[in-house]
Amino acid sequence: MIKGIAASSGIAIGKAFVISENVIEVKETIIKDTAMEKDLFHKAIKTAKAQLEAIKASAESKMGKDKAEIFGAHIMMLEDPELIGAVESSIEQKKYKAEYAVKTTIEMFASMMDSMEDEYMKERAADIRDVGQRLFNIILGVENTAISEINRSCIIVARDLTPSDTAQMDRKLVLGFVTDVGGRTSHSAIMARTLEIPAVVGTGNASSVIKNGDNVIIDGDGGVVLVNPDDETIGKYKNKQDQLHQYNKSLEVLKNAESISKDGKKVEIAGNIGGPKDVMRVLENGGEGVGLFRTEFLYMDKKSFPTEEEQFNAYREVLEGMQGKPVVIRTLDIGGDKKLSYLSIPEEMNPFLGYRAIRLCLDRKDIFKTQLRALLRASAYGNLRIMFPMISGVNELREAKKVIEEVKSKLASENIEISDEIQIGIMIEIPSAAVISDMLAKEVDFFSIGTNDLIQYTVAVDRMNEKVSYLYSPLNPGVLRLIKLVIDNAHREGKWVGVCGEMAGDLNAIPVLLGMGLDEFSMSASSILKARKLIGSLSYEEMKNMTSEVLNMPTPEEILKHIESIINN
Ligand code: PEP
Ligand code: MG
Repeated sequence: MIKGIAASSGIAIGKAFVISENVIEVKETIIKDTAMEKDLFHKAIKTAKAQLEAIKASAESKMGKDKAEIFGAHIMMLEDPELIGAVESSIEQKKYKAEYAVKTTIEMFASMMDSMEDEYMKERAADIRDVGQRLFNIILGVENTAISEINRSCIIVARDLTPSDTAQMDRKLVLGFVTDVGGRTSHSAIMARTLEIPAVVGTGNASSVIKNGDNVIIDGDGGVVLVNPDDETIGKYKNKQDQLHQYNKSLEVLKNAESISKDGKKVEIAGNIGGPKDVMRVLENGGEGVGLFRTEFLYMDKKSFPTEEEQFNAYREVLEGMQGKPVVIRTLDIGGDKKLSYLSIPEEMNPFLGYRAIRLCLDRKDIFKTQLRALLRASAYGNLRIMFPMISGVNELREAKKVIEEVKSKLASENIEISDEIQIGIMIEIPSAAVISDMLAKEVDFFSIGTNDLIQYTVAVDRMNEKVSYLYSPLNPGVLRLIKLVIDNAHREGKWVGVCGEMAGDLNAIPVLLGMGLDEFSMSASSILKARKLIGSLSYEEMKNMTSEVLNMPTPEEILKHIESIINN
């Protein structure tokens, strides 16, 4: 049994698909039989084209024609006479083996494109390298382990997965995943919960212990992975899977119910999304709004910055999809564990404390303004609330609001309609902002507490590092006192306050947040009904009393014990 961190609920049983990180070295080798190498090269082109045709067709049906177009471009590259001619002559004249001829020719083309001023051509360099990788994988008989190309049902096992790897997973094929590194609030874990894919992270060594094709069970609630289990164990977990399924079904009666405590305190339970396709899950799970749209996923899905029009369409789709319910859209929060392949940021010692989110947007107003224009234009189609991430003080907030005003007046001069009821809020995820939340509250319409980062920064515990995850607790007394301060300061100014970090859906933390008077809980869609059920079973007055006791308890363990003793009574 391999132990890890329970990252996304559910049991998955299936065959492992191990993503290896071994880079194959292709060395210069001189050959005699050039005809054979040329033949290998042409066969590889044929196979690559067939693979790409199949991927293109499946991408078209899953993600639409637009997104699939990239594979059409790859097919065209494989038909380019200049490229084919250059590889052939490198085999004939330099007597290179096929894979080495492909490698050197592709690199020559890619560097040429890289050195051009034109952004479009620079992007093509990444594409041609992709095509080259595919060709030498085929020539060398190496299985392609790109997540987007998985075509059998499996459990992914990897050292690490980026958030965009997770976002690309096809739920019908990927039954679950296991990683060596990461924590519960790393973005690949958050995405797993959004997609409702069971996951265990931070196992330390799963990707070296588990072999391709091994039978694997993952328990996303218990945080354990079993490798090649016997029939009895498989039977036991199948039962568990059924029970979980039954339990989830039993929650469906709450889908259209209010989120209200048993003594009548009403709160709002909303969903967190990463793009338009997640709206359906929020609605299916009875979400009363979207409390956090992490727009960076729109950017991460692409090979260059999304245009204003692309963003406008995505925001409009979400706003219309939510049918007038409130939608909090957060402006770009890139940085930390979320990177853009096309935006080069120099290596940083502490990326979570570095050039990211609002800092980057205020520095790159071109990027920021494009997003704000798209957001403001989309506001005419629903109930939009705009939120800035990583605000550390009043200056950043004022500057960001100034940019919004500039963009608004530009749109007005173009006679473009925008809503006049857009609320502007900020994330409270940096301790300095929490401490001065009395002053910040005067200048916003709402707060949303980003506990994922607030815990990380308050306790000085990297949210991605499994070695220190024992310190990462939402019930840390220092964190709880800060949250209470923020809620009280917001209410004093008559502003509403939510939590959109993972703590909002944490069944151990919800009683305390309710007791503190939190107005909105925003979480992964899969947690909404469980949270509503729990809130319905609690008395607000009792939770208020419990919270004042808890705020004077010195350790997370004592706090948890006290909460459990009260709510199980
Ligand atoms: C947070 O920090 O709690 C949050 C919701 O933002 P993210 O997880 O995207 O950093
Ligand atoms: Mg955050």
